[in-house]
Amino acid sequence: MESKKTMPTNEHERFMRMALKEAQKAYKLEECPIGCVIVKDGKVIARAHNMRITHNSALSHAEILAIKKACKKLDSWRLSDCDLYVTLEPCTMCSGAIIQARIRKVYFAAYEPKGGAVCSCNDIFNIAHGHNHQVLFEDGVLQEESSNMLKEFFREVRESKKSKNKFPALTDEPNDLFLDLDS
Ligand SMILES: [Zn+2]
Repeated sequence: MESKKTMPTNEHERFMRMALKEAQKAYKLEECPIGCVIVKDGKVIARAHNMRITHNSALSHAEILAIKKACKKLDSWRLSDCDLYVTLEPCTMCSGAIIQARIRKVYFAAYEPKGGAVCSCNDIFNIAHGHNHQVLFEDGVLQEESSNMLKEFFREVRESKKSKNKFPALTDEPNDLFLDLDS
């Protein structure tokens, strides 16, 4: 669901660039480069990046980790009046967590054609969830920057399959990658 913009576009891009910085940190760890920041009253209150391999946890998506940090910071499970910026369209799990945390609005960059739950494969924020909370979203903020980083990552992973000296946790299991923007 689109909504009226509450800040100038460049402000959204500024926060998305911070999320992209987080994605870079994941990239350096040989994790799929996805980053997230949570903003309240114009200030970043939490930032995180994908740590699935590092934590050996399917739950360690950037959004989940950022939500945990934001809840700790605010000392509340409820993140009303908070906006979440993430470099890739959230999956079903993260979208569920975003609804549960009562996030006000989600801004995402790249689309996830194989598993994006916001608009690519599902419409999860617009399904009735039995509690009166509607998460708004805006898609495609710095889409190209994020897509390029992901494509570069997957290109490196594919190339490293030949040498097997990098991305050991990913190279033998291409299906483990939850998206492949080139396919
Ligand atoms: Zn997720």
